[in-house]
Amino acid sequence: MAQTLALSGNHNNEGGRHFSPTSCAGNPRALSSPDVNWDKYAAALFDLDGVITPTAEVHMRAWAVMFNEFLEDYPDAAPYTDEDYFAYVDGKPRYDGVASFLESRSIELPRGETSDPADASTIAGLGNRKNDAFNRVLAEEGVQAYPGSLRLIEKLHEAGIPMAVVSSSRNAPAVLDAAGVTKFFPVIMHGALAEKRGLPGKPAPDTFIAAAADLGVPVEGSVVLEDAISGVKAGAAGGFGLVIGVDRGVGADALTDAGAGLVVTDLEELL
Ligand SMILES: [Mg+2]
Repeated sequence: MAQTLALSGNHNNEGGRHFSPTSCAGNPRALSSPDVNWDKYAAALFDLDGVITPTAEVHMRAWAVMFNEFLEDYPDAAPYTDEDYFAYVDGKPRYDGVASFLESRSIELPRGETSDPADASTIAGLGNRKNDAFNRVLAEEGVQAYPGSLRLIEKLHEAGIPMAVVSSSRNAPAVLDAAGVTKFFPVIMHGALAEKRGLPGKPAPDTFIAAAADLGVPVEGSVVLEDAISGVKAGAAGGFGLVIGVDRGVGADALTDAGAGLVVTDLEELL
């Protein structure tokens, strides 16, 4: 299917950006954007949470489901709200978030062990219960890919550029399935697979390098797309052809300092 994919017009050249339309008649792979000449690259490696899907929202819902079920046994405690999420849970390791919220309600539970079952009345048990809630929310409510990300993924797929997902999350395959995008990614490097293969996580570059190898492409010919400082650092350390920082709130300067060669706020800008 010979198809010209170069897009033109309506490009916002703020910030000194420069766009040179590329002539690409008859080349099925030709695909250009204001900032990225995809013809130069052999593959694209995507982080998942915050790049392809707004998974943070699913995690927020899962915390609410878990804590509100738990609080049914504590009728005198104030219900869990989104304000609690930002005050006590957001950004913390899972069990620390549980402990912090329980403290806010003056509820004391033993710490427990990571291996505690989800119904254990321990901090670890509640943390594990949250992971079950995450999978339940995902199954019941699903998750939608960011529209701009989906459009870029579809474009690259049509252009024949192979793509991988490189995510620290053990839930990555389930999230990709729920978002309906698994079919675009012949390689999915997720948390459990990295552990199985003994690969250190981001900011070490190993998971990205392994994904490129699995796709059969050279790192210097591959593009990394990441929203986290640790992920951008991994791409920069791995010697990838281009690291694109996706600024979902971390800040463009922080992503640039970490090694991003280009920063966008949405993948829509790369179309
Ligand atoms: Mg991310």
